[in-house]
Amino acid sequence: VAELGTPTRSVITTCAYCGVGCSFKAEMNGDQLVRMVPYKHGKANRGHSCVKGRFAYGYAAHQDRILKPMIRERIEDPWREVAWDEALAFAADRMRGIQERHGRRSVGVITSSRCTNEETYLVQKLTRAVFLNNNTDTCARVCHSPTGYGLGKTFGTSAGTQDFDSVEQTDVVLIIGANPTDGHPVFASRLKKRLRQGAKLIVVDPRRTDIVRSAHVEASHHLPLRPGTNVAVISAMAHVIVTEGLMDEAYIRDRCDWDEFQHYAEFIADPRHAPEATETLTGVPAAELRAAARLFATGGNGAIYYGLGVTEHSQGSTTVMAIANLAMLTGNIGRPGVGVNPLRGQNNVQGACDMGSFPHELPGYRHVKMPDVRAIFENAWGVQIDPEPGLRIPNMLDAAVEGTFKGLYCQGEDILQSDPDTHHVAAGLAAMECVIVHDLFLNETANYAHVFLPGSSFLEKDGTFTNAERRINRVRKVMAPRNGYEDWEITQMLANAMGAGWHYTHPSQIMDEIAATTPSFAGVSYERLEELGSVQWPCNEAAPTGTPLMHVDGFQSGRGHFVITEYIPTDERTSPRFPLLLTTGRILSQYNVGAQTRRTENTAWHGQDVLEIHPHDAETRGIRDGDWVRLASRAGETTLMVTLTERVSPGVVYTTFHHPATQANVVTTDFSDWATNCPEYKVTAVQVSPSNGP
Ligand code: SF4
Repeated sequence: VAELGTPTRSVITTCAYCGVGCSFKAEMNGDQLVRMVPYKHGKANRGHSCVKGRFAYGYAAHQDRILKPMIRERIEDPWREVAWDEALAFAADRMRGIQERHGRRSVGVITSSRCTNEETYLVQKLTRAVFLNNNTDTCARVCHSPTGYGLGKTFGTSAGTQDFDSVEQTDVVLIIGANPTDGHPVFASRLKKRLRQGAKLIVVDPRRTDIVRSAHVEASHHLPLRPGTNVAVISAMAHVIVTEGLMDEAYIRDRCDWDEFQHYAEFIADPRHAPEATETLTGVPAAELRAAARLFATGGNGAIYYGLGVTEHSQGSTTVMAIANLAMLTGNIGRPGVGVNPLRGQNNVQGACDMGSFPHELPGYRHVKMPDVRAIFENAWGVQIDPEPGLRIPNMLDAAVEGTFKGLYCQGEDILQSDPDTHHVAAGLAAMECVIVHDLFLNETANYAHVFLPGSSFLEKDGTFTNAERRINRVRKVMAPRNGYEDWEITQMLANAMGAGWHYTHPSQIMDEIAATTPSFAGVSYERLEELGSVQWPCNEAAPTGTPLMHVDGFQSGRGHFVITEYIPTDERTSPRFPLLLTTGRILSQYNVGAQTRRTENTAWHGQDVLEIHPHDAETRGIRDGDWVRLASRAGETTLMVTLTERVSPGVVYTTFHHPATQANVVTTDFSDWATNCPEYKVTAVQVSPSNGP
């Protein structure tokens, strides 16, 4: 700070990392960012922050930033720096030519949950109003798409039900498949504070995560389930509650579809769901599970927080619905201190989903097949919208390999490093005639690109992010874009190079269009955000200052819907060749593929992803702490260093995917959630054997 001088001005903006959505004061000396100070009036963080938000912004000024557009005829050619006009004309010509030769559905887009609501809205509009198809998807496909499906089916709204503040009234915290200490650090601190005040804790996770070890709560339960058995564990909890008469019948009669409940109760009471019947399958002791179920049903206000350990499975959507069933069964929806809360990984996963970045849904989670919904956007945009849902990310890659999908605009997303089955992703990208990468850095996906459009960092743009509690926070421009343009401007320039004729001059105009077309955002404007600081959707005539708690007076669809959630084992099975189960996750100081955090000096990083293995499994393989090992699955293999730890159970190994050199996703497979195609990152049958190193 001393070197950068004394701050002369400050700008309030929002962290661009996780779904907590912390507010910061960016303190500036002229055009130089001196430091990021947690903003004490930020409603999501109240003056707190974690190491990433506070210190990991150096990437925005990193020498690896690409600041000029580049093109090349073939991916074997060297990149050629060109003017913006030339790059955009090149991209537009290629995409237009592909559509002329292969049809309008032969191209598509992938946007990122790192982008603002306004950018994401424009990218799906580009797909629907310029490319004239619905091939638009977002990285939520590979994280929280089952949340959209599961909560939509049960509650009628695809979003978390509580605000962060209401955890202060929670008596029992149930965490399923989430590691908030590493993934959502500021909210984890609030959870731990509540636990220190006496709230009870139940954690369902194959790993002994930090919150299990640090909670210091005598009545806590850790249910270390075998990866892939979430549905069986939650159903067993529901079985105990129903068969012991612990459900909240008055709530169910008042708020839920009673016939559906009776059908569900009959299903869940079947002895095959009993903890004793599922103990061998799940690995969770029946007595412990019974105790946890009784605590959740009778311990007062119960709140459920879940993460990617729920969604990234072949039964991800089923698990989300099982969680919703459990909450309705115990009357834990619609008042302070209770609810179901997906802990969104990225800063704007919620917003990307809200903004219609799905191939089947227009903004506001409305199906593209509905003529009255299409009519709203057709009137606003002056085009006919394709009534057929488009391709999801894995379908785009499959179609590319098959030769029917030829052009991709990929904004802020490195699918080669982050998506499963790296070899298949590479084959899909290599088969395309035009790949446009729009990003800060020449990422791994750019190895297969023909056009590179340099992006702007979160410090260089205006817009909004929506956090995990549906809170719409302003992102404010702190400095001029080093690449010359904000990202929404670049998308607009690409659309106009294709003949669109858009003329937005500020993202507030895009938000006005969102408000005009999307009922849950009808009351949102930049003026309202300035006035209130932030606002939680729905924000409209009925709720002009927003909605901290959902479903207070009943569910959006009228009644809550119980859904039958049969456990179906994943097809990914261990075998003598691949006897261990790999599950993946993140560490506090790094962020997903590490594009930003690896380029920031002041975050701790040991330089590589590490494989956690139980000492027993290591010993039987002749592996010692710190050894190099070969990690192999049926999809591929990589080399990692191991650490021996009892955080994982025997039979389970764990790693992160922060570094491209590790390529952990080389080993993850193409299995995915039955409803949404969210990849099954959390269950891969693997073998671990000694290695001499990479
Ligand atoms: Fe940023 Fe999340 Fe850390 Fe807050 S908790 S500072 S939003 S990474």
